[in-house]
Amino acid sequence: MSNTLRIGGLTALTSVDYPGELAAVVYCQGCPWRCPYCHNGHLLEEAGHDADLLDWSEVIGRLESRRGLLDAVVFSGGEPTVQAALADAMAEVRALGFKVGLHTGGPYPERLQRLLPHLDWVGLDIKALPEDYPQVTTVPGSGERAWQSLRLLLDAGVDLEVRTTPMPGLDDDAYLQRLMQQLADAGVRNYVLQQCQPAHLRDGSLRDRLRGLPEQWPSVPFEQFALRAA
Ligand code: SF4
Repeated sequence: MSNTLRIGGLTALTSVDYPGELAAVVYCQGCPWRCPYCHNGHLLEEAGHDADLLDWSEVIGRLESRRGLLDAVVFSGGEPTVQAALADAMAEVRALGFKVGLHTGGPYPERLQRLLPHLDWVGLDIKALPEDYPQVTTVPGSGERAWQSLRLLLDAGVDLEVRTTPMPGLDDDAYLQRLMQQLADAGVRNYVLQQCQPAHLRDGSLRDRLRGLPEQWPSVPFEQFALRAA
């Protein structure tokens, strides 16, 4: 089934997408959400063209040739968990000896639960407090699903990094402090605040409303905290 995975791109080598590991990144097509600041608009379903997709057989062949050079393979997107073929693809990657990473926004907690046995590390986007999610994703109920995914990953004890890309309008210091406190209270220990990438916004009108990240955060309730520029 992994050969039905819709893949929009492959990064052969990166040292920043899986903490502490040299990784390849497989960019999966599709996402149920429509964030105005999305910088991977070409991976969303509406914009996907079959001719632009990579075959899984080609991707797994390239990964196989990198055994011994790479530590891990990260499935990113888009939103990888939208695809039913993901679990089989992860199992194949594991069988080659690679660690498996996942970048997700957590829109499908039930699917995430089923993926747990395949996962070594997860980078989970938490975009806002649950009630404010529709301002970012445009989808009602998305916040509850993302925070449910967070709970699931924390309870499962998966190696986890939670990231927030502040959305204009939900990015003042007081709001972010409240969000971070709620995440820390939930049990998040490893957190990254990352800057929106202004170059490829789905909604270019956001560009003028982007606020740079502070150089230092005054009161950080995490064990590990980082500010990540675009
Ligand atoms: S969840 Fe991620 S991939 Fe989906 S629209 Fe939002 S930013 Fe883009």
